[in-house]
Amino acid sequence: MARKIKDLKDTNLLGRKRLPIERVVSSEDGAYEEVVPMVKEIETETTEAREELLQKCQAIFTRTDFPVLNRDFHKKFLESPLSHKLPPGMVSLDASGPWMIYWVANGLKVLDESCLARETQRRIYQKLFGISTVGGPFGGGLGQLPHLASTYAAINALAICENVDNCWDSINKDSIYNWLLTLKRKDGGFQTCYKVGEYDTRGVYCAISVASMLGLLTEDLCKNVVQFLVDCQNYEGGFGAVSHEDEAHGGYTFCAVASLAILGALDKVNLDKLADWCSQRQFNGEKGLSGRSNKLVDVCYSFWVGGVASILEAYGYGPCIEKDALRDYILCCCQMTNRPGIRDKPGTNPDFYHTNYGLLGLAITENTFRLDKTVPHAFKITSTIIDQDRASGLTAINPVYGLPNKDLELFYKHFT
Ligand SMILES: [Zn+2]
Repeated sequence: MARKIKDLKDTNLLGRKRLPIERVVSSEDGAYEEVVPMVKEIETETTEAREELLQKCQAIFTRTDFPVLNRDFHKKFLESPLSHKLPPGMVSLDASGPWMIYWVANGLKVLDESCLARETQRRIYQKLFGISTVGGPFGGGLGQLPHLASTYAAINALAICENVDNCWDSINKDSIYNWLLTLKRKDGGFQTCYKVGEYDTRGVYCAISVASMLGLLTEDLCKNVVQFLVDCQNYEGGFGAVSHEDEAHGGYTFCAVASLAILGALDKVNLDKLADWCSQRQFNGEKGLSGRSNKLVDVCYSFWVGGVASILEAYGYGPCIEKDALRDYILCCCQMTNRPGIRDKPGTNPDFYHTNYGLLGLAITENTFRLDKTVPHAFKITSTIIDQDRASGLTAINPVYGLPNKDLELFYKHFT
């Protein structure tokens, strides 16, 4: 087990507070020398884009004093696809039907636990069981092959339907379990689709998350999975898509860490390096989190990386991100004011994906997380609001599953 780091001061831990590396550079004619930061010396499209984004964020911070979440405003954005046809440009998302339903419905539930009406829940399960008439596994849309990502999104979306009309009894556990076994590889990975899908930490998370929620975590299904994930941690401390030194990335890291939490095997990886890597994702100027080294901040990593930080916190490690600063980034820089919704960064437009993960990230910044070890599979990560006066009134969430805690508990109990 890695050493506990909760007693260390933030300044020792937060990678973003390291001194910038500087070099002495001579002018072309050799007439003078100046000391410049390395990053200035090797300017690229990315460093220029980062500089531009930094200016935008700092301009916003100077004119926004007390950021507040405009809940009713964003509710309109998330409700719109439930009552209106989506614009033709979104046809490219045809294979993401269950994802769209999960982002929109979950975003609404996180905004306000009572705002998913019975009629909406009814329409959600009817739509999903229209995609898979046998009750799962689920494809991205009608007539499409079942896929791990769509099945994960469908099960999450069904979990927030509060078993309306006993819809949970229509989920076909046997069919989902047998299908998961056909995707399982000897090395512990899961292919996303039967015979043709790629395999990486995302597939593992989708499979393990679904199996744990439905009470299907058998020895056969879990064999070698922990080793597969352990091998995906690289020298940076984060996790890549596949084993042995693939580039560390926020999404893959979340999938690996959440899966390890579900399997009770977090202590098998280097948690100190992981916490360090999470800290390095947060930038002092923009205050948000990036997904990889030398990339721009983006609000969705408030959940992918913030979720990892919360899981570490629940298991007694951390703090490894500055929640107040991240809250400022989400509320000041990503919350739209001239139209509803949450965008990934200043200069872009809001969408359902970033609105859902921005809200989950905001819930992470306003709570502390603790593990109840009496409940299996990381189900019972309890959260406590840090400052009631400043809190945005969001629903308590479980960072391992990206779902409201209460819904997750009910769903789990139903199937076990
Ligand atoms: Zn994003």
